[in-house]
Amino acid sequence: MKKNNAEINRRQFIVSGAVALGSMAAIGVGVKYLQKSIDDGDPLLRPPGAIAESDFIYGCIKCGLCVQICPIDAIKLAGINETLSYGTPYIDARNQPCDFSCDSLQCAETCPTAVLDFKQFKDVGGKALEAYQKEHDIKDPSFNPFKSQIKAMKEAVVMGIAVLKPESCLAVSGKGFKGTPRGADFEGINRTPNGGTRGAVRLSSKQYDREICDICVTECPIGETAIILEKSENNGTISYKPKVLDGCTGCGVCVMVCPNEPTSIIINPKKS
Ligand code: SF4
Ligand code: SF4
Ligand code: SF4
Repeated sequence: MKKNNAEINRRQFIVSGAVALGSMAAIGVGVKYLQKSIDDGDPLLRPPGAIAESDFIYGCIKCGLCVQICPIDAIKLAGINETLSYGTPYIDARNQPCDFSCDSLQCAETCPTAVLDFKQFKDVGGKALEAYQKEHDIKDPSFNPFKSQIKAMKEAVVMGIAVLKPESCLAVSGKGFKGTPRGADFEGINRTPNGGTRGAVRLSSKQYDREICDICVTECPIGETAIILEKSENNGTISYKPKVLDGCTGCGVCVMVCPNEPTSIIINPKKS
């Protein structure tokens, strides 16, 4: 018997509805799985201002502008092995951390999708600028509001947090360090913190001679709100230990300058 058009249309409607519902459920399960693998996996160290990892992965258009603008080539694009993160920007702190050489968080400023969110830094910097201008005399030859703006913007960065591995740290075992930390061939760039106009130079051009190793502490671009060398005394025995504080930005400079191989200080990247 010949089926009429109305019956065929009704069947087609039911079948295509069931297929659509099934597909949506499968996509939902897939998205949940991807979300879980992002949340549970080892996150990459993202450039300053990165939004929560699960949103970052979807929002980054992999344009590479942040890579191009960084004056010290601190930002790389993740390779195919990074699966979901393929093509997204990250920082390999042991080889080249962000030492804030650009002074103005240019990578975040240039990001067209704001997955590196510059607005937070702009707001913080603007407030610091205003406060400085109110409190200082413009006729004072040392008047420089931009220093306070840059300082506030850098301090607002949260890429992760440094974590000491005390079992291998030279300071913890009472040892010093003499020489250049990563050897003469190391190509990483390092800007001396509070070094006035001195720009970034190769770490291999710097020589240290420390009775107790504290290179991670003295090269930290944030300073004593981020890391200190803690001294303690027990029954007349003095010991030292780098102590990471709340002000740590996770920039990774301490990781690059640590002379130990493997490094005695690492970064735990932020997840959200
Ligand atoms: S903030 Fe750091 S990573 Fe970003 S452009 Fe400046 S130096 Fe490079
Ligand atoms: S630079 Fe490395 S070895 Fe030296 S104090 Fe810091 S963590 Fe320890
Ligand atoms: S301790 Fe200093 S150098 Fe190390 S990650 Fe934190 S802010 Fe950067």
